[in-house]
Amino acid sequence: MNFESSVTEIKGIGQKKAELLKKLDIETVSDLINYYPRSYQDRRFITPIANLVPGNTYLVRAYVINIVNNKFGYGKKKTLKITADDGSGRMEIVFFNAGFMANAFKAGEEYLFYGRASSGYGNRLQMTHPEFSLAASDALRGIIPVYPLTDGISQNEMRKWQRSASKYAENVKEFLPPEIIARNNLCSYSYALSNIHFPQDEQKFKEARYRLVFDEMLCLQTGLFAIKNGGAGKNKGIAFDKKIKVDDYINSLPYPLTRAQQNAVREIMTDMESENAMSRLVQGDVGSGKTVVAEIAMYKAVKCGFQAVLMAPTEILARQHFENIKKRFAHFGINTGFLSGSVTKAQRTETLKMIKSGEFDVIIGTHAIIQPDVHFKKLGLVITDEQHRFGVNHRTLLGQKGKNPDQMVMTATPIPRTLAVILYGDLDISVIDELPPGRQAITTKAIGKDKRIDAYRFVKGQIDKGRQAYVVAPLIEDSDAINVRSAESIYSELLRLFRGYTVALLHGNMKQKEKDDIMERFAAGKIDILVSTVVIEVGINVQNASVMVIENSERFGLAQLHQLRGRVGRGNYKSYCILINDSETEVAAQRAEIMVSTADGFVIAEKDLEIRGPGEFFGTRQHGVPDLKIANLVKHIDMLETVKEEALAVITEDPLLESAKYAPLRERIIKTFKSNLDLKM
Ligand code: ADP
Ligand code: MG
Repeated sequence: MNFESSVTEIKGIGQKKAELLKKLDIETVSDLINYYPRSYQDRRFITPIANLVPGNTYLVRAYVINIVNNKFGYGKKKTLKITADDGSGRMEIVFFNAGFMANAFKAGEEYLFYGRASSGYGNRLQMTHPEFSLAASDALRGIIPVYPLTDGISQNEMRKWQRSASKYAENVKEFLPPEIIARNNLCSYSYALSNIHFPQDEQKFKEARYRLVFDEMLCLQTGLFAIKNGGAGKNKGIAFDKKIKVDDYINSLPYPLTRAQQNAVREIMTDMESENAMSRLVQGDVGSGKTVVAEIAMYKAVKCGFQAVLMAPTEILARQHFENIKKRFAHFGINTGFLSGSVTKAQRTETLKMIKSGEFDVIIGTHAIIQPDVHFKKLGLVITDEQHRFGVNHRTLLGQKGKNPDQMVMTATPIPRTLAVILYGDLDISVIDELPPGRQAITTKAIGKDKRIDAYRFVKGQIDKGRQAYVVAPLIEDSDAINVRSAESIYSELLRLFRGYTVALLHGNMKQKEKDDIMERFAAGKIDILVSTVVIEVGINVQNASVMVIENSERFGLAQLHQLRGRVGRGNYKSYCILINDSETEVAAQRAEIMVSTADGFVIAEKDLEIRGPGEFFGTRQHGVPDLKIANLVKHIDMLETVKEEALAVITEDPLLESAKYAPLRERIIKTFKSNLDLKM
């Protein structure tokens, strides 16, 4: 049989079952074999009936001594009652509505039963609807896989099909070269496949799992490396002039750089001056001062005769950067332009002309900058702010706008370093792990819904001192489906509660112009309370704001809460974050406690990861990182470094995996991540 044959080749799978299997993404025999168990039941050992404890699950081997097929109880449905005896004791086996099964048993024969023991009528030991087989059969015994299923497919069917398929696993071809297998002490691929489904013992299961986890991470990592410029590892780029210094700019700043900022600047300068194109991720907590680091890099690029781009994910943020940076750069004779979706047609034409002619040295804007009709004179540096909003593909598009310009991305979503290795496999990483001095610590309080009014009384006190407040809600409008307070309903409530104050509403469905208007008024201190959805999450800098109230905080991810909290405490005022939690669950309490107890974004990111798992943490779509079938980036974190080294070795040796040696691996990568990664290979 061919592994790429349809699953219908397997006995017992007809058209109908094949349709159902499609829902599990299983279409070929190979898909089936690569559909791994969710868990296992250890049914290697037989327990004497005398030792059974109600509530637990056992494998029992016993003779059937009596069969009663009767109509009992209310609906007068047939109930089959069997008495089984293994010499140590007796138990009753019960099947409801299954009188037809009477023929499956014969008195005097020995059977295996697997099921949950319970205590029946008159304290008699019972097993209801156990799995069973003749004692001589081994179908019930061993370490038995449990598969995730879909309606219409039973656990037993899936096991039977997997058993048939696993017979063919012996012939499956190895796709890793022998060195990688030897270096990492891996078992063969075919061994791994048979033992992941029907392991003979724990040791073999562990070997199998290790191999498959390794494979999946290696495929992902190698795939990510290969994405970068179609597979080239280090690639030639611009060598910015070493003799041109950035000290003038740094000395013009109203503050000295922090040690962490200095380190990042040093790493960036080294990258820029080298003849390889820079690909660097700058990670720094909210407020750690990434913008100025970006400015220094742009300054360097411009002074070396190139243009530089800074791209932000939202209009508000792009404008804020533009307003601030334009002024500072003007002192140095640097011309800064702005481009976004909201500029008028005439303005846009004019701006495009000035970008093309080189009159603009620096262009700040939104993704409007990557439209096909934007041409540069001499683009040398591309910086993307708040990287988590853009995918890998955006980065690639921007890179194509120049002759392999240096690239830098900045993110305030702290990612544990080990994970960043996989997520940003194609980037070098600088971490700004220090906040500028004199920052006000933010006091965080988590309260229940019953204390809401107290929270708003506190907000009033702050406003009366001249401060401003943010109130964030998870939804825009009330929804029947989800029982949470919407931004709209909170807004109308606060209008009543805060008579004589200015309350405004901001959400993602509003027109850009309206949003900008409101943000401008808030920044100018003309609005006391801004009620909004998470649109304000990224980057906004209003130093007079001192309180952040988050309604239904249980509905936000920790990293998101951390981002939101970072909107306050930006000036000289003592600041507060109030989380209004409307959930009684343990997890909600745990999460609130983390937010209260730490302000360190990296710690929060790690905890978030622990609680929610990597799938949700990364939000697959946002990052373009696919779901993993067997590898778990948290549990298997210690394998990441090894895998990264192997992947690097592969890519260095054969950047596009074209050799006979790596072609099978390449095929495997494409198969595993076909629709998820933008693989140009
Ligand atoms: P983020 O990393 O969140 O983008 P920003 O770049 O917006 O942070 O910086 C936050 C604030 O800190 C800004 O007002 C900026 O002027 C200020 N800042 C940046 N670096 C320093 C520093 N070394 N010392 C004092 N203030 C700084
Ligand atoms: Mg920023």
